[in-house]
Amino acid sequence: MHTTFTPQQLSDPAIARSNEILRACVHCGFCTATCPTYQILGDELDSPRGRIYLIKDMLENERVPDATTVKHIDRCLSCLACMTTCPSGVHYMHLIDHARVYIENNYKRPISDRVLRWLLARILPYPTRFRLALLGAKVGRPFSRFLPDARLRAMLEMAPRQIPPVSRNDDPQTFPAQGKKMRVALMTGCAQRALNTDINDATIRLLTRLGAEVVIVDGAGCCGALTHHMGRESESHAFAARNIKAWMLEMDKNGLDAIVINTSGCGTTVKDYGHMFRNDPALAKDAARVSAVAKDVSEVLMELLPADAPQIDRQVSRDGDVRVAYHAACSLQHGQQIKTDPKDLLRRAGFVVLEPADSHLCCGSAGTYNLMQPEISGQLKARKVDTLDALTPDIIAAGNIGCMMQIGSATATPVVHTVELLDWATGGPKPPALTRGGNPVSQVPILR
Ligand code: SF4
Ligand code: SF4
Repeated sequence: MHTTFTPQQLSDPAIARSNEILRACVHCGFCTATCPTYQILGDELDSPRGRIYLIKDMLENERVPDATTVKHIDRCLSCLACMTTCPSGVHYMHLIDHARVYIENNYKRPISDRVLRWLLARILPYPTRFRLALLGAKVGRPFSRFLPDARLRAMLEMAPRQIPPVSRNDDPQTFPAQGKKMRVALMTGCAQRALNTDINDATIRLLTRLGAEVVIVDGAGCCGALTHHMGRESESHAFAARNIKAWMLEMDKNGLDAIVINTSGCGTTVKDYGHMFRNDPALAKDAARVSAVAKDVSEVLMELLPADAPQIDRQVSRDGDVRVAYHAACSLQHGQQIKTDPKDLLRRAGFVVLEPADSHLCCGSAGTYNLMQPEISGQLKARKVDTLDALTPDIIAAGNIGCMMQIGSATATPVVHTVELLDWATGGPKPPALTRGGNPVSQVPILR
């Protein structure tokens, strides 16, 4: 794609990077075929190629963003299916990230948007605040239909019926390994700590059982993804910088083989810290080191879980096959290009793995997207749940809490994290979601 940035514009590293990306695009349109918003809305401006043109025009002309441009950029899920499809290697993620920051800095949103976004940024990344908000939402949930704004209704309706007690496993500490093979830091996250404490508990049990000492590093918290996707650059960088400092202190003092992340949306962001801080002389080197050792939990388990696993307790499949429909989170399959590891691990552990049709398509969760764009998100959710339920699985597994909540809100099939199944299959307890009697947000009781 031909671009006309001036030398002065190109002296800004963010513009220089976007220029590189724009020039890689040959406007072939292959990406439109796998873009969920284009499939639903059928508007070129809601396709990757259309958005690329909008961003180019906005940045080149240093234009104050107009409401139409903002609408189409806001409707992008950042699912990155377009990056997987693009034959020219266009790094759409860095381009849309830049566009979101530019919009945040140059566009005055309506007051309701500003308040909503401010609230989300002030609540979601903080587990205690988020937990309190969830309690409030639980009380308000029966009255959600009286709210005038669809986004507020979506927020109340997505609040779980059950809010787990605080898990002390998420506090800074070290969990010794059984037969130590490696030492890893586990990122315990932010929203996940309030929504579902089973995932970190299972991850710690599983990793330590398989030989990884697990440390929860003091000072590490939200990865910054939630604010990053809203274009709130200084806030997201502050979260990221805090993590980099905390993990580097631990790495230099006691050594770390990996930083393990079990929420793939966060993993994609942590793996991008090197890029985020590339022009920061104080943090560039450390950010790159953190990104280099950041691993999705499935990547680490591929090293630890034996391929033929003779010692694995096959209790879960003794009474017949346990059919697991695997939902590939976009951040895992497109953001990190991890496509086969979680399925291979589940098969190693004795599960029968099923894959839904159109598995490349987003479930509509996408961070705060299901709260900010409830209509498009709802259509994507219905489509995803239909394809998963059509497999008649016993269980649905995913590697991202956002997808689990989104899918779990519309199906009677229990939705668990992949690590909960691997933990169960290797001697851990049955995932609580299988016995609890319903997914946290679902109105439908689990049929087991
Ligand atoms: S597939 Fe890649 S090169 Fe083709 S239009 Fe989309 S982003 Fe551009
Ligand atoms: S990130 Fe997803 S929603 Fe956004 S343009 Fe790419 S494919 Fe479409």
